[in-house]
Amino acid sequence: MNKDCIFCKIANGEIPSKTLYEDSDFRVILDLGPATKGHALILPKEHAENLYDLPENTAAKVLPVAQKIASKMKAALGCDGLNLVQNNGETAGQTVMHFHMHVIPRYESDGQKIGWVPGQATPEELDAVAKLIVE
Ligand code: AMP
Ligand code: ZN
Repeated sequence: MNKDCIFCKIANGEIPSKTLYEDSDFRVILDLGPATKGHALILPKEHAENLYDLPENTAAKVLPVAQKIASKMKAALGCDGLNLVQNNGETAGQTVMHFHMHVIPRYESDGQKIGWVPGQATPEELDAVAKLIVE
C-alpha cells in the first residue's frame, strides 16, 4: 500500500466509498464524477501504478470482476451498452496513478462519447508496426 495514494486508501477501506463489491483483492466503487449513472471503478487493493506494474495474477482476476459488475448493471440498471475503459499514463487520460478499470454503463441518448477518431493505415504500415511490436 502506498501511503500517498488515494485509491490505496479507498481500496483498503481507510477512506469511505460507495462500495458495490469487495473481495480479498479488489474493491469496486462508484466513481465520484460519473460519466453515466452507475459508472464504477475496479480498484486492486495492492498498489500498482498502471497496467505495466500490475502483477499478472491480479491482472487475470480483473476481467471476472468486471464481468460480475457488468452483469449486475445490465440487470439492475437496464443499461443498453457498457464500456470497459482503462487508462495508462497521463497521455492516455490517467489522472489517478493507481491502476483502475472503469465500468461505464451506457444508455441510449446518454450524451457521452467514449472512443477515438479512426485513422488510416496501408497494409505495409500495418505490417511494419506489427513487426515493431512483436519483434
Ligand atoms: P482516470 O482518468 O482513468 O485516472 O480516472 C480517474 C477516475 O477517478 C475519474 O473518473 C474520477 O472521477 C475518479 N475519482 C477520482 N477521485 C475519486 C474518489 N475519491 N472517489 C471516487 N472516484 C474518484
Ligand atoms: Zn495506490
